[in-house]
Amino acid sequence: MENKCSVCECRIRAKNTKRKFGSSVCQKCVRLITKLAARVSDNEMKLEDVPLKYQYYVKIVSKEGL
Ligand SMILES: [Zn+2]
Repeated sequence: MENKCSVCECRIRAKNTKRKFGSSVCQKCVRLITKLAARVSDNEMKLEDVPLKYQYYVKIVSKEGL
């Protein structure tokens, strides 16, 4: 099965579908989103400074905790 990352639109070869965000976000983006969410929660960065395409996911991570 092939999916596209909903952030960067790269192809995902989904094997681990039980990760965060299911199989809709590639691992590279998940890592970046996690990093951004950590910065936001440490007040190093404001949510509105996060690139728009990541904001939605950063919000999810921030809400659920890392
Ligand atoms: Zn991606």
